[in-house]
Amino acid sequence: MRIIVTGGAGFIGSCFVRMAISSGHEVINVDALTYAACIENVESVANHKNYHFVRADIRNKFDIESVFNEFNPTHIINLAAESHVDRSIDSAEEILSTNIMGTFNLLEVFREYTNKTQFDCKFLHVSTDEVYGTVRNNHKFDENTKYDPANPYSASKAASDHLVKAWGNTYGLPIIITNCSNNYGPYQFPEKLIPVIMLNCLNKKQISIYGDGSQIRDWIYVDDHVSGLLLVLEKGICGSTYNIGSNNEIKNIDLTKKVCDLVESIIKPDESYQKLIKFVDDRPGHDIHYAIDSTKIINELGWAPKYSLAKGLEKSVRWYLDNQDWLFALSNRSGVGERLGLSSVKKI
Ligand code: NAD
Repeated sequence: MRIIVTGGAGFIGSCFVRMAISSGHEVINVDALTYAACIENVESVANHKNYHFVRADIRNKFDIESVFNEFNPTHIINLAAESHVDRSIDSAEEILSTNIMGTFNLLEVFREYTNKTQFDCKFLHVSTDEVYGTVRNNHKFDENTKYDPANPYSASKAASDHLVKAWGNTYGLPIIITNCSNNYGPYQFPEKLIPVIMLNCLNKKQISIYGDGSQIRDWIYVDDHVSGLLLVLEKGICGSTYNIGSNNEIKNIDLTKKVCDLVESIIKPDESYQKLIKFVDDRPGHDIHYAIDSTKIINELGWAPKYSLAKGLEKSVRWYLDNQDWLFALSNRSGVGERLGLSSVKKI
C-alpha cells in the first residue's frame, strides 16, 4: 500500500506509521505538528526509504491536493484531530474546525483525486466510541448503535463520521470508518490519563480524579488498535463501519490504582502513590460507561487483540519509566506540566 497518514506525529498515528513501515508499506505522514505532535515519535523510521513527511494542515486544500498529486496514494487514513475532551470543553472552535472542516477538506480532495485517477483507492476515517455516548441497558456499542455524543469533542467526531458516510453515499466514494475505545501505550501525549498518572507519581503530586472515579472505560493497547486499522485498510469492505475494542472495561479509579501500584512495584517509593489520589468536581457532560462490541471485525476480518490489560499496562508503565526524558520534555514544552501544578518536572 502507498498510504497517506494524517496525524502521523501523534500518539496513534505514529504507532501506525511505525507498524506500516515495518510491514513493508510506503507512507507519507501529513501532520500540522500542533502542540500534541511529537515528530520524534517516528524517529525510528525517519530515514527509511518508504517514509516521507510533509508538514501540512488538513484544512489547507492546496497543500492536501499537492500531497495527493505528488504521492499518488492507494490508501488514506485520517488520524489527524484535536483529541482532548477537556480542551474541547474549555474552547471548542479549533476542535470543531480541525475535526469537521479538516475531514470535509480531505473528503473533497479525495473525491477529486478518485474522479481524476479512477484509482481503487480507500479512505479510512478513524473515530472513537465516544460518538455513541454512554452505554444504555448494558448494551455494548456495536456498529448499529445510535450516535449520542455528549461533549464538544465527541460531537465533532460524530459530525466528521456523518460527513464521511454522506460522501460515501452521495458520491460513491470508497470510505470506511472505525470507532475505537480508549487507547493507551507508549508515546501518548502527557495530558491523557495514564501518562498524567505517571507524571504525578514521579513528581509526588496530586492525582486528580473526576467525580468518584466510577466512570467505566474500555481500554485497548495502541498496537492492537493499529493492527486492526492495517487489517481494515487491506481487507475492510468499503461503506462499512468496524468497531474496535479489546474487552478491558475498568473504572477510572481502579485503573489509576493499578498504574500507581505498578509504578510503585518498580520504583519502591517511601510512601504509597495511591495516597496522591484526590477526587475533584466531575467533568461536565461526563459519560458514565463506554464498552465496545468488536464481534464484526473479529468475525469478518479475523482480527484479534494480543494484549490483556495487565500485560499492556505493565509494558506501558515500563516504557514511560524508561523514557522519562520524552515524558518530561513534552510536558515542559507544551505547558502541560504547569497545568498539572508541576513547576519543575524531574526525572528519577
Ligand atoms: P493525538 O492528539 O495524539 O494526535 C493528533 C495528531 O494530529 C497530532 O500529531 C497533531 O499534530 C495532528 N493534527 C491536529 N490537527 C491537525 C490538522 N489540522 N492538520 C494536520 N494535523 C493535525 O491524537 P490520537 O490520540 O493519536 O488520536 C488520533 C485519532 O484517533 C483521532 O482522530 C482520535 O479522535 C482517534 N481516537 C483516539 C482514541 C484515543 O484513545 N486516543 C480513541 C479512539 C479514536
